[in-house]
Amino acid sequence: MKKLFLVLLMVLAVSLFFYFDLNELLTLDGMKASLSTFEAWRASSPLLAAGLYFLIYVLVTALSLPGAAIMTLAGGALFGLLTGTIIISFASSVGALLAFLVSRYVLRDTVHAKFDGERLRAINAGIKRDGAFYLFTLRLIPAFPFFLINLLMGLTAIRAVTFYWVSQLGMLAGTIVYVNAGTQLAQLDSLSGILSPALLFSFALLGLFPLLAKKVVALIKRRRIYARWQKPDGFDRNMIVIGAGAGGLVSAYIAAAVKAKVTLIEAGKMGGDCLNYGCVPSKALIRSAKLAHQMRHADHYGLTGDEPRFSFKQVMERVHEVIGKVAPHDSVERYTDLGVEVLQGYARIVDPWTVEVTLNDGGVQRLTTRTIVIATGARPFVPPLPGIDEVGYLTSDTLWDAFARLDAAPARLVVLGGGPIGCELAQSMARLGSHVTQIEMARRIMIREDEEVSALARAALERDGVRVLTGYKALRCEIEEGHKLIVVEHDGEELAIEFDELLCAVGRVARLEGYGQEELGIETGRTINTNEYLETIYPNIYAAGDVAGPYQFTHTAAHQAWYASVNALFGHLKRFRVDYRVIPWTTFIDPEVARVGLNEQEAKAQGIAYEVTRYGLDDLDRAIADGAAHGFVKILTVPGKDRILGVTIAGEHAGDLLAEFVLAMKHGLGLNKILGTIHTYPTWAEANKYAAGEWKRAHAPKRILSWLARYHTWRRG
Ligand SMILES: Cc1cc2nc3c(=O)[nH]c(=O)nc-3n(C[C@H](O)[C@H](O)[C@H](O)COP(=O)(O)OP(=O)(O)OC[C@H]3O[C@@H](n4cnc5c(N)ncnc54)[C@H](O)[C@@H]3O)c2cc1C
Repeated sequence: MKKLFLVLLMVLAVSLFFYFDLNELLTLDGMKASLSTFEAWRASSPLLAAGLYFLIYVLVTALSLPGAAIMTLAGGALFGLLTGTIIISFASSVGALLAFLVSRYVLRDTVHAKFDGERLRAINAGIKRDGAFYLFTLRLIPAFPFFLINLLMGLTAIRAVTFYWVSQLGMLAGTIVYVNAGTQLAQLDSLSGILSPALLFSFALLGLFPLLAKKVVALIKRRRIYARWQKPDGFDRNMIVIGAGAGGLVSAYIAAAVKAKVTLIEAGKMGGDCLNYGCVPSKALIRSAKLAHQMRHADHYGLTGDEPRFSFKQVMERVHEVIGKVAPHDSVERYTDLGVEVLQGYARIVDPWTVEVTLNDGGVQRLTTRTIVIATGARPFVPPLPGIDEVGYLTSDTLWDAFARLDAAPARLVVLGGGPIGCELAQSMARLGSHVTQIEMARRIMIREDEEVSALARAALERDGVRVLTGYKALRCEIEEGHKLIVVEHDGEELAIEFDELLCAVGRVARLEGYGQEELGIETGRTINTNEYLETIYPNIYAAGDVAGPYQFTHTAAHQAWYASVNALFGHLKRFRVDYRVIPWTTFIDPEVARVGLNEQEAKAQGIAYEVTRYGLDDLDRAIADGAAHGFVKILTVPGKDRILGVTIAGEHAGDLLAEFVLAMKHGLGLNKILGTIHTYPTWAEANKYAAGEWKRAHAPKRILSWLARYHTWRRG
């Protein structure tokens, strides 16, 4: 309502301006004709004239009326170069600010709702970075329409204060030129002569100066970083990659594929965490656990359900067999065949171009390289609980070997942590016979997901016998008469939980020490600090994967690896900003929880408008046939549009189902396109189409349909 009132007021003001033919006054001839009257008035009441002139100037510019240039010339004629410049400099800046604010107030929300949020976010990120420079350049070149800059800038995220002072500073040179010309107004025949092409070019150069200066400063900074090191005359390698997990393997692969000489150095096992301690063993364990669960509940499928009889040792042997079967994909042999030199040893960066390798089989090698990719991954975080070392604990690094030595699953297992890894392992171990207590400090598990997803996950875990304690803080570990205990606190009360094994799954921290990065002064926070090109403060040293963050997934490590390696090898020609717009992930509990893009809690936190469409998997024919008719597909879209902002799927095969939405989001396909695609019957994938159908039903053109109903009634006679 307020917006409408403001718009109406402005329309009225503009109408009055034209109704009283004030536009005639704001032409060169009009102004020349009336100049003597204005001069006489200014001579009799100089202060009043200056004040009124200021006010009118502000109004003309704030309402984006034509004639600001004539007003400026008139200012020169009336008040002279100095006073005229001062008055106009402030009046034009205030007017510009008002136009900017009106545009922001009236139009910004509508424009943001209409256009692609991601693209706008990218523009705003650019404005945040270099907006002041762009604005300064635009202001310096009077050829860019003044009113258009005000209106467009109002739509961006630039701060109003920045807009004001940059505008005032940027417009000053042009203002002086115009005011100066105005002092000779009587001799002026046209506006075109005021700004010669040479003058415009000089302004443009002046405008580009800050951007160039920024680049030069960056160049000097880069040179200073390298100043304390002696750069080798030549290099043994184009690239050295430290760490052979997903991030390192893919970086080396890409470098070799484009014929660079690349050395990959791995201190531990080829394949890193994912193959040896993470995704692969956990998914193998999950599969055995699911089968045990299905055997237990075989009566759901018309068979006789029974407690599964199995050897835990054999389950763990299978887990290690699976690792062994996948291992060739990440092996030294495979990568050597691909053209990568693989060294097994510990790498330390000695200087920005030299890496020293302490080989596992003895000996030390020093290699020089033009570029380095750090892909050293992350390790499990162990909370510093008093007594934890005394009771002993497992992490994802140690659990696979430790469990392989057991004949039966630990009778009482405490899982510390309610994130994806904790949930996956808690459920699997409960299904394999452990009494599992899961302790989470937050008030719900899987806290990054929406409340309903956390609730669904909790119910699933509890159905499998996991005791889920949320809002419980671990305080200490104790041994009492040979019994291992963990003491937790909830609502001010302490509770001691006895266990046989304690598994820490409270998060993973980037590996940031021990390989020379501290000595080089490579900045770190929770991860290695990089810019959007994954470049560290050394332009030839990049980082990828868990060590670079912010995500900790195999597929994001591989995704980043492309940017790190391509930017490292070719960044001097063209650099690529890492694209995090469409990042999917799955938590492999049963039912799986898969997500891409925004969920509701994130959309709310970021103030992004959305609509929710939901399709219940209890309705899906294939889900019913498979005895797994539970869960949902939940889609967030731009209000009134089929553009997908994010999708959460909870249910069987959720991770696989998600792929269609990942593709759609990546390539800008909306729900109408998914609805218009044939999906095989009866498949789980149909859930995606039905979810799109739900959206379509909710957005059916009701008016047209009611007309159609009338039309058909009429046709029936
Ligand atoms: C239990 C568990 C389950 C998981 N499940 C999934 C899943 O289902 N899906 C998913 O996407 N992600 C999953 N992850 C996460 C995934 O494993 C990691 O995100 C992924 O391994 C990261 O790859 P990376 O290359 O960054 O690091 P890593 O795989 O950790 O590799 C880093 C390598 O660098 C080596 N290294 C370190 N320092 C040096 C040095 N100075 N010299 C030489 N070598 C060095 C290390 O030995 C290591 O092998 C899981 C993780 C865990 C723990």
